[in-house]
Amino acid sequence: MAADAHEMTPRAYNQFASDNYAGICPEAWQAMDRANRGFVASYGDDIWTERACACIRDVFETDCQVFFVFNGTAANSLALAALCRSYHSVICHELAHVETDECGAPEFFSNGTKILHIDGPNGKLDLAAVEQAITRRSDIHYPKPRVLSLTQSTELGTVYTPVEIAAAAELARSHGLKVQMDGARFANAVAALGLSPAEISWKSGVDVLCLGGAKNGMAVGEAVVFFSRELAEEFDYRCKQAGQLASKMRFISAPWIGMLESGAWLKNAAHANRLAAMLAAGLEKIPGVRLMSPCQANAVFAEMSAAAAASLRSAGWHFYSFIGTGGARFMCSWQTTEDDVHHLLAAVRQAAEE
Ligand SMILES: *Cc1c(COP(=O)(O)O)cnc(C)c1O
Repeated sequence: MAADAHEMTPRAYNQFASDNYAGICPEAWQAMDRANRGFVASYGDDIWTERACACIRDVFETDCQVFFVFNGTAANSLALAALCRSYHSVICHELAHVETDECGAPEFFSNGTKILHIDGPNGKLDLAAVEQAITRRSDIHYPKPRVLSLTQSTELGTVYTPVEIAAAAELARSHGLKVQMDGARFANAVAALGLSPAEISWKSGVDVLCLGGAKNGMAVGEAVVFFSRELAEEFDYRCKQAGQLASKMRFISAPWIGMLESGAWLKNAAHANRLAAMLAAGLEKIPGVRLMSPCQANAVFAEMSAAAAASLRSAGWHFYSFIGTGGARFMCSWQTTEDDVHHLLAAVRQAAEE
């Protein structure tokens, strides 16, 4: 399959822009194929969806409530809307996807809930700043803090430890806040930490997890996982109203079975993490290149001269540079190969020397 992909797109190795540039991994693809045989009831009332929910309960070792939606923006914004009323606020990191990349969807679906963003090193929340944001005001003129939102792994490719999550959740809980986790890359965090999914979610105090599928190797789809039954009340209506209830739900749910039962979700994540570590180690050795945050998952953030970044780009390399001039984000996915990493390192070496 990888060989075919390279034949079709000869410059495929020039791509480190995002893990969602990758295709569908074989395990997800085969699961869709299996679900494609014959007629099956629509709107999630089917055996595939039932089994996918059971798989997620098994993986998380608890009786959680599971909903499948099309993408991460829907998962995050609907989960936050379920936890908040219009006059509430959500506290998150200033680089959080819910703040910077969802076009105001959390505010829209919650009818006005305000996002309050705070700083913190390496993409992680600074708890003193969180506490200050929560306690700064208690009067009626300030949007009442209701949810603490954490991203795991973070937008800067770092990973919260269970101790850090538990401390954040404890702080949130002591002030009456719920904890939502944006887990678009949760699998990468599980693989990086080598801990059980339960340990870094509900056992550490997470109330709702938005579990990523697309960047992990599926075609489309994320799962919203509620660890408490009350919080999930009427969430199905929210999904339907938001246009997130797939009529052919089995094609969103079945891939989860393929990914979770085979272990591909963690295999893919561990592979992407390993290549990112390899890339980070190589970049660090190149004069004029500096890592901007520790590489703990599948992202590598590197700083180089603006001229070097421009030269890489003109040589056809794709990467993001939303973190300032000369800053480059390189993402690895299940489909990235060691050769891709070697090619990129050679190109960066050349660009840095010019
Ligand atoms: C990719 C991503 C999402 C999901 O984005 P969609 O494009 O809406 O699927 C959510 N959170 C983070 C941190 C992401 O990187």
